[in-house]
Amino acid sequence: MPIDVVIAGAGPNGLMLACELALAGVRPIVLERLSGPSGEQRANGLVGQVVRMLDRRGLHERLSGTSAPPRPAPAFMFGAFSLDLAALPDNPVYLLMVPQRRIEEMLAERAAELGVEIRRGHAVTGLTQDSGVATVEVTGPEGPYRIEARFLVGADGGHSVVRKLAGIGFPGVTTDRRISRSAHVTMPAELIDPVGGGLVIPGYGTVPPFMHHRTERGLLTFAPFPSGPSMVSTTEFLPSGDDAAFEEPLTISELRDSVRRVLGVDLPIGPPEGPGPHMLRRLTGGNTRLADRFRAGRVLLVGDAAHVHSAMGGPGLNLGLQDAINLGWKLAAEVRGWAPPGLLDSYEAERRPAGQRVTMHTQAQGVLVGPGSEITALRELFGELLEDRHTVQRLADLIAGAGIRYDMGAVPADPAAASLTGRWAPDLLLHTETGTVRLAELTRDARPLLLDLTDGGTLADSVAPWRDRVDVVTARCEDPNVTALLLRPDCYVAWASAAPGPDGRQREELRSALTRWFGHPAGAGDEAVGQPSADARI
Ligand SMILES: Cc1cc2nc3c(=O)[nH]c(=O)nc-3n(C[C@H](O)[C@H](O)[C@H](O)COP(=O)(O)OP(=O)(O)OC[C@H]3O[C@@H](n4cnc5c(N)ncnc54)[C@H](O)[C@@H]3O)c2cc1C
Repeated sequence: MPIDVVIAGAGPNGLMLACELALAGVRPIVLERLSGPSGEQRANGLVGQVVRMLDRRGLHERLSGTSAPPRPAPAFMFGAFSLDLAALPDNPVYLLMVPQRRIEEMLAERAAELGVEIRRGHAVTGLTQDSGVATVEVTGPEGPYRIEARFLVGADGGHSVVRKLAGIGFPGVTTDRRISRSAHVTMPAELIDPVGGGLVIPGYGTVPPFMHHRTERGLLTFAPFPSGPSMVSTTEFLPSGDDAAFEEPLTISELRDSVRRVLGVDLPIGPPEGPGPHMLRRLTGGNTRLADRFRAGRVLLVGDAAHVHSAMGGPGLNLGLQDAINLGWKLAAEVRGWAPPGLLDSYEAERRPAGQRVTMHTQAQGVLVGPGSEITALRELFGELLEDRHTVQRLADLIAGAGIRYDMGAVPADPAAASLTGRWAPDLLLHTETGTVRLAELTRDARPLLLDLTDGGTLADSVAPWRDRVDVVTARCEDPNVTALLLRPDCYVAWASAAPGPDGRQREELRSALTRWFGHPAGAGDEAVGQPSADARI
């Protein structure tokens, strides 16, 4: 019997997909080339809607160490501009400062709790597929072997072997003019502003913390992490035609020289103190690429395997983890046999445009931080546009991935219902018979959910034929002004209604949305396709 799903890569996105599949009743096998942690330091945190999405799975608490719901950040950056977000009516930029290593550890723990098998030291090396199975060639500690799988997901990073084996193109651009240097450092305490936390550099001025700071010669970033050594990074740009060839690893002295070139003054940094691992990294060049398909037959791509771009502003995990959450329930539905036609293909239709938005804005930011006086002029103009609050809201939505609206078919006539349809559901406060809960507390099992907000819960019986795969919660909710919301497991609103009570049209619309996203109801003789929670009706 073929395995249902094999995932190549136990990075954050492969692990998240494994958790989502397991929640939906499909236990994948995860193959990871490395036998232990890579030691490579990548993300310092999560930015955007994914922070709230982790809350919807009960995973925010595991990373933040607190049960308090996430809160939006009062400020963030775009192309080395500081965005004042505190005044926005709807600030979607949530931050969770936690190293990628810890995110991966937490997701691996969660996957293990859910019964996922992770085979470390097993690399995917070959692939053939026909209409029935994907045959995956693997090299493990005991030598080569094969696995037959109904689906193979490439979560194996930017250099994805799976993408190449599946013949999926990866068009885009490679630039080799950019050199960034980052290191954990120490510096004299008197250089740090005790109030704002920025650097006060004699002969230069103040560099704010956790912000890209641009000069006409490059970028400097100062990140005084509360629990660990501070980090200083620079980015410089070589004139075209120059080759950046570095034989030796980065040193603190090379970083110091780079800071002097960018700022024009010395910054007395020294090597870090305390237990490591410490960062000392030089990166040259960069890629912006988007897979031309996210699916080829029985092979799908998520995360960096599907898109790579600059890490500026940290959009990578916001994008990749939400790819995984979008794909998980759809792939599980396909495997379990209840997926309506086209459900699995809606993964690419929904997530490739999301990837396109990120490659667009990271490239745009790359230009905005470039060297030279013409970029300074562009920045002056851009800065004027940012005086308009609506522009700031647009950028905040772009950074957070909160501007996404998926096509759910018919849009309701009522404005309140129309404004929610296709969008990620807000964290509603729901008053149920047993108490008041946040929506985030009802979505931990990753099951489709009808929120029946009608007086007396009159819609619940319409869902009865789907109860093996759709949960129902009856509740009261003052805001927004709607009477029903049907949520997909990724928390996007598949259908919303503002009709006040039992109404034939409302029921018909609901049945149509249930069929469109969750297939035909299980009839007599059909194999059970899922277990409803004991009594999801609160
Ligand atoms: C310097 C830097 C800083 C960054 N900072 C941020 C940030 O602050 N915030 C943010 O959100 N993002 C950041 N990113 C981006 C983020 O790190 C990536 O988007 C993320 O790692 C992608 O996860 P992934 O699971 O798709 O791929 P990866 O993390 O690359 O994981 C892929 C896994 O697949 C394994 N693998 C590869 N080939 C095979 C094979 N043939 N068989 C089996 N396994 C295989 C690899 O060993 C690896 O474990 C940063 C990236 C870099 C480089």
